[in-house]
This record gives sequence, structure tokens and C-alpha cells, in this order.
Amino acid sequence: AHNLVKQFPVQAGPFEPKRILTAVAGIDLELYPGETLGLAGESGCGKSTVARLLTGLIPASSGSISFDGKDLASLDAAGTARFRKEVQMIFQDPFSSLNPRMRVAEIIGEPLAIHGIGTPAERRDRVASLATRVGLAPDHLQRFPHEFSGGQRQRIGIARALAVAPRLIIADEPVSALDLSIQAQIINLLQDLKAELGLGFLFITHDLSVLRHLSDRVAIMYLGRIVETGSREAVLDRLLHPYTEVLLSAIPRIDGGKERRVIARGELPSPLAPPSGCPFHTRCPYAKPVCASDPPPLEEKEPGHWAACHFSKEIYRSQR
Ligand code: SF4
Ligand code: MG
Repeated sequence: AHNLVKQFPVQAGPFEPKRILTAVAGIDLELYPGETLGLAGESGCGKSTVARLLTGLIPASSGSISFDGKDLASLDAAGTARFRKEVQMIFQDPFSSLNPRMRVAEIIGEPLAIHGIGTPAERRDRVASLATRVGLAPDHLQRFPHEFSGGQRQRIGIARALAVAPRLIIADEPVSALDLSIQAQIINLLQDLKAELGLGFLFITHDLSVLRHLSDRVAIMYLGRIVETGSREAVLDRLLHPYTEVLLSAIPRIDGGKERRVIARGELPSPLAPPSGCPFHTRCPYAKPVCASDPPPLEEKEPGHWAACHFSKEIYRSQR
């Protein structure tokens, strides 16, 4: 994705003026085959909008998205159909993303039917093997979604996403609604599938501790912008942006490392009125006057490790 922007017109009430909400403010993202990119930030930072843009569920206001080197906007009908097969999505809420009136076998098999793959008998076999692969018992297939726990419903969602053998899965907070022990099971399943099938993942979460387990690279979003990105080790162990530090401080340390809690001041500003200069300056514990006027560019601070902060070198060199 290159220089991706998404704006929505919003109107607070019938007599209020229309305003423009910039949910995604010009981001670049690259996903390599078979890798997991973790995209993290607070709710309201634009992560889910990025997911919906990348799957083509909503059109971008400007910027471009390409897949296999081809611009999505220039694809013909066959190309678009292929893209819709190669990129599948797993949603946060397995309760609302599964049709309550369909049996599990129909839900998992639906993408095969939509894409016209296989005979009915072949589809039934494929559905049975997918169900087994994600840990659902064969006798579960004739049941309805409400008969399952949250974790099992997410397994159904994963089986459905896998049905058409995609190369990329976009998972928007797939474990956030689940209990911790169930989260670990689902994350293990996703990791196994990644290794086994060579799947690429865009894994969207507000919880950086999840990304420690399953991402190759990490990108941190704040108010519709990417403020830091690099390898998992670079971003999580040698962070260079105060916002990343705030997100990491929110996670209790279990490695016995030195505890240093950095807390953001105040609330997340409205994306309707983003701050001038550095978008994080109203909350940043290190902000200086220049931060309120000059937007910091996303710069490569060390090889492959990018951050958008005027003072990252000064702040983090002195602390290491
Ligand atoms: Fe904080 Fe300034 Fe860096 Fe923004 S540019 S993150 S306000 S120190
Ligand atoms: Mg969201």
C-alpha cells in the first residue's frame, strides 16, 4: 500500500456542519509472502480501516494498493476475483461475523461455493478436513454458530478463511474478545498454520504482547499514521518512538526486566481535529515546543527501523 488515505464525512447531528474524519492519513505498508506483520495501536487509530481498505471492502480516498505488483484499481474482473480469493479476512467478533442461520458446514464451505471451487462432494471433503485442521469435531459441522464458545467460533472463522487456500489473511483483533487461555490456543493455531501453509498474515491488535509471539515485523499506528515500524526485535526491544514506549509500558513485564512505566497524558485526540506538528505531542512525555509545530517524518533511524519522532535518538540513546 502506498500513501493510503481514507477520509469519511461525518455529521454530529442534522443541523451540524459536515466534517471530514481522516481515519488513515497517508500510510505505506508492505507485506511480504509468508510473513506476519503486526499492526498495533489504540482503538480509534485507524487499524480496522486499514484492514478494510486492504481487503477492498471499502475504497481508498487516495493512494494505491497493489498485490503481486499489480494495482488493485487496474484489475479486471478475473483479477479482482483472484485477489478476493487470495486475501481472506478473520474478524474480531466471531459472534457477529458468522451467519446465525447457517450450519457450520455451510459457513466454512461458503467461500468455495462463491468462488465455484470443486464439486459438492469435493467441497464436503474439504470442509471436513478444514474443520479437523482447526480443531473442530466432525459432528460439530451440522450445528449452528450459537452452539459454540467464542474460541470455537473463531476456529470456524479461521476454517472459513482457509477454505479457498489464500496467501494472505488479514486478522482484525482475532483474539481480543477471547479469554487469555483461549487466546493462546488460537495464536498457536495461527502460528502452526503459518508455518504449515506459508501463509502471510496482517495481524491487527491493540495488544503488543500478542505480537511478541507471532509477528516478524511490527508497525505502530497513531491517529491514522504509522509512527514506528521495523522487525519485531527492533520495535519491541529497541523502540525509538515514545508512543511505542507508552504501549509497551501498559504490559506487565514477566521477564524480570527493569520496570519503567511511561504513561501518555490525557486522552486520544479526536481524529476530526488532529494536533498540529507531531500528532502525539499533546500526550508525549518528552514533547518540546518544536513538536507542536513541525511534523516529524517517518525516517529510517537504523537499518530497517523507522520512526517518526524528532528526538528519538536523544531520548533513547541516553536511556540505553
Ligand atoms: Fe514526542 Fe516530539 Fe517525538 Fe512527537 S516528535 S513523539 S512529541 S518527542
Ligand atoms: Mg478496530
